[in-house]
Amino acid sequence: MNSEKHRALIRDIPDFPKLGILFKDITPLLQNSEAFRDVVETLARDMSRHPVEMIVGIESRGFLLASAVAYVLGCGLCLVRKPGKLPYKSLSQSYDLEYGSNSLEIHADALTEGQKVSIIDDVLATGGTALAAASLCEKLGAQVQSLVFMVELDFLNGRERLQPRLVHSLYRYS
Ligand code: AMP
Repeated sequence: MNSEKHRALIRDIPDFPKLGILFKDITPLLQNSEAFRDVVETLARDMSRHPVEMIVGIESRGFLLASAVAYVLGCGLCLVRKPGKLPYKSLSQSYDLEYGSNSLEIHADALTEGQKVSIIDDVLATGGTALAAASLCEKLGAQVQSLVFMVELDFLNGRERLQPRLVHSLYRYS
């Protein structure tokens, strides 16, 4: 994988969606067929060290990576969604965001007791979103084997909030 070339495809957007936020825009990387395939295959290879039955994707950009990785690994795909989007009986977990607060939901029958899962999102910032997703999985009795991200903003210390769970990311920014 050509890390430097791929890093250059992650675009910085200052003051989006709010003043003071440096937004990591992954769309240029997704638009590049070679880089997108490389990222998906690298994530899948890294994740195959800790085999799971289910990949959990966080809405919405997490879905883009989670579905592709689940396909490559031959896993099921479970959706953690924003409030009011899931049609069936759901569990909810509120969380703080780098810019605001929100809650996430999961279908009550999405995971089973003892099931091994990995969670994927595009960016790890403060860790609130990923922690909420992990809490939902754990409330259903699943075992979170790893939390995996394309981008990690080291200076926001999200990794610490997710301890003792295993955290893996492709591109770290300090
Ligand atoms: P957090 O809960 O603070 O770790 O925020 C992570 C979630 O918010 C992820 O779903 C990201 O898509 C989004 N996010 C937070 N900060 C950024 C950022 N600087 N650039 C792009 N996405 C971000």
